[in-house]
Parts: sequence; structure tokens; C-alpha cells
Amino acid sequence: MSTIFNDDPDLFAVTVHYARAGTGATNRDVYFGLNGLTPLSILHEALHVQTGLDDEALARKLGFAGKETADQGYSDRIIDALHANGCF
Ligand SMILES: [Zn+2]
Repeated sequence: MSTIFNDDPDLFAVTVHYARAGTGATNRDVYFGLNGLTPLSILHEALHVQTGLDDEALARKLGFAGKETADQGYSDRIIDALHANGCF
């Protein structure tokens, strides 16, 4: 898991979603990068864990109706929704 954070130091956090049997991981595990342990990223990842939705599905659930070309775009729309609703 540490290699994805080494490859992308700007990556804040990752929710597992698809844990392999026998590894000890669960689909509710969340890993945070060196700069990722913030109230915003904890809330963002908690929404993934509780809903089981990826960034695009979660952004749409929170009201985003547009089209993004990269996952980071949908992640940013989730952050926008959290700001707009006074979550932090
Ligand atoms: Zn996300």
C-alpha cells in the first residue's frame, strides 16, 4: 500500500473497496498519506466507507450533475459539496 503513496505524494487517502480474502484487509479499510490525515479527508473517506460509492457516484449523490474527465474532478466536487453544506 505504501508504494501508491510513494508514487503520488499528493495523494491524501484511499479507501480499499476491494480487499482480497486472506490478506487481513477489509472493504472498509482506509489508508492516509503523509499529508492526508485531515478532517476533510477523514470525512470524505468515511462517506465512501458508509455508502460504498466511488468518487463519481458519491459526487452525483451529493448533487453534482456535470461531467468530469478524471477521478480527481469528482473528488473535488465532493469537497465542494462538503463546503457548500457547512461540513467543515
Ligand atoms: Zn473519494
